[in-house]
Amino acid sequence: MDYKDLETDFLKNFDDNNGHERVRRFECKETGLIAFIAVHNTNLGPALGGCRMFPYETENDAIKDVLRLSRGMTYKNALAGLPLGGGKSVIIGNPHQQKTEALIKAMGRAVDTLNGSYITAEDSGTNVKDMMLMSEETDYVMGRKVENSDLGGDPSPYTAFGVFSGLKATCAAKFGSDDLSGKTVAVQGLGAVGYDLCRRLDAEGAKLIVTDIQQASLDRAVSEFKDVIVVEPDAIFDADADIFAPCAMGAAINAGTLPRLKASVIAGAANNQLATPAEEKGLEDKGILYAPDYAINAGGVIAVCYEYLHLSGSNPLGHELTMENMKSHIRGIADTLARIFEISENRGISTARAADELAERIFMGSEQARATA
Ligand code: NAD
Repeated sequence: MDYKDLETDFLKNFDDNNGHERVRRFECKETGLIAFIAVHNTNLGPALGGCRMFPYETENDAIKDVLRLSRGMTYKNALAGLPLGGGKSVIIGNPHQQKTEALIKAMGRAVDTLNGSYITAEDSGTNVKDMMLMSEETDYVMGRKVENSDLGGDPSPYTAFGVFSGLKATCAAKFGSDDLSGKTVAVQGLGAVGYDLCRRLDAEGAKLIVTDIQQASLDRAVSEFKDVIVVEPDAIFDADADIFAPCAMGAAINAGTLPRLKASVIAGAANNQLATPAEEKGLEDKGILYAPDYAINAGGVIAVCYEYLHLSGSNPLGHELTMENMKSHIRGIADTLARIFEISENRGISTARAADELAERIFMGSEQARATA
């Protein structure tokens, strides 16, 4: 395995190079691995963020993505009140065609070269099985099954739980009540998180308008949920809904879709929901209350953090690492969002900007994340 740290001068060419502590390139000739690990900031603790496998066309595309994603993790972990910094890794390749056990194990060895300053977990293109394989090569991998503990495993159900708590908090701020009975929620994407979210919404008496590009997920939804309408993927933006929950890909809110939205709350799991910062103004003009994506979708990373602290034997949280405390911490996403909405209102700034400012104050040490458990 060859590796080298990218020079600061070279990284200056990238927009998202906001003071990364380290960006390392890895190449393993035997397994075909080409990967990058970026450690953005470790002020609060070791950098934790998932490992993405994606067929990037060029190495520069991969670097651009890893810089953007690792910086985002610093903000996300800080806002979630975790003793963790931000980092991310990317493997260049198609996960359906180029993923081999040898390649994933080589990635485990790559993670190990950082000696614990970077901790990985699953992301798009990687899964629990991959994390188990990596754990044969390094201790610094989470989102895997943990012996004699109910912590660990797929973080998606915890992401859904956090989105549900955050969606209710956003409704409370917008509608004056978090009661979802009779409210209509348009859910884009019925994958691991979106489907689980629908279950919770259905149980609370919400009406659902759903879409996906997989017919099987839609059939399952129709057979399981009490009040559900299926629409074509593009029609979800015209849905007559109170709440829009983007749970598919990024950039769902863009110049083309925003004018069509009828919902007055946006609260969903997808990362990078706003295509550009210009959408923040558009949301304000339409009176839509937007729950910033990385604040509302932090349930999974909170779960991964509890797993890490349990396995590492060091616990700065000040409470036991039980499932009950972890769920309470995830429920705290509602309090974080309430705080973001308050800052946004008091300062006359967008909720996205308010979230960024609060996260910056937390990871720069001038403010505490709210006690959450
Ligand atoms: P997933 O791949 O399981 O589900 C995504 C779903 O969206 C799939 O069912 C897919 O068919 C559907 N989809 C794709 N394009 C679509 C389109 N144009 N219209 C409608 N549906 C479409 O992913 P997931 O784990 O459920 O994650 C959903 C989103 O939440 C992603 O953006 C992810 O980055 C983000 N997220 C996930 C987690 C987690 O713990 N899984 C954590 C934080 C953020």
